[in-house]
Amino acid sequence: MTLELVTVPCLSDNYAYLIHDETSGETALVDAPEAGPIRAALEKTGWKLTHILLTHHHHDHVGAVEELRGATGAQVVGAKADAHRLPPLDLAVSEGDTLQIGDETGHVLDVSGHTVGHIAFHFPQSALAFTADSLMALGCGRLFEGSAEQMWASLKKLMALPSDTIICSGHEYTAANAKFALTIDPENPALKSRADTVAQARKDGRPTVPSRLSDELATNPFLRASDPGIRAHLGLEAADDAEVFAQIRARKDAF
Ligand code: ZN
Ligand code: FE
Repeated sequence: MTLELVTVPCLSDNYAYLIHDETSGETALVDAPEAGPIRAALEKTGWKLTHILLTHHHHDHVGAVEELRGATGAQVVGAKADAHRLPPLDLAVSEGDTLQIGDETGHVLDVSGHTVGHIAFHFPQSALAFTADSLMALGCGRLFEGSAEQMWASLKKLMALPSDTIICSGHEYTAANAKFALTIDPENPALKSRADTVAQARKDGRPTVPSRLSDELATNPFLRASDPGIRAHLGLEAADDAEVFAQIRARKDAF
């Protein structure tokens, strides 16, 4: 049995996720932006929250932890490195640590860059990765704390996951990301077609997440620093991948 996944839109553009193991009845929430929509999703599914997994300390990811913990008694899991600025943790984890949701083992990856101490959760059996503000649909998080080199190292870890992995990221930024991506990789037919799909989804009011890693590898410019077309477009044929990534990130900041 694989985990069931429910995407929960929160606040103006955040996403939380619920994962549920039918056999054990355990249910984990990934990030807690806003209690109302999460409690509504729990009510609708009939699932009882047992775990809250936190990716990073920003308020739009942890703001509803105490209300949900109080209402459900769920165990809160987050980065050991960030324990001083996260809500009190029942389980503090670091890269390489694992946690159990029913029979499924989740693996913790350090994906610092957006913040230092940002973690991702990978559930290989269900092919799910919760990346929040590290790898995002057609984008990556802004570098508030880490360096471009750090984010590039984090993205490389995620790029190495099986390509059918479903990437569950933290925000609905995909339409704006697509506009930017087309300025970096204008001749990429897969990107052009994804940009159309994204525009249509937003027009219909549908989320553009989660996304598939194979699609990110083919279209997300932040993962494509080694692409000869992008390097030529940026005049960075001789640079190393981390430098190309840094240039793309800098251009996005100015976009
Ligand atoms: Zn954030
Ligand atoms: Fe965020």
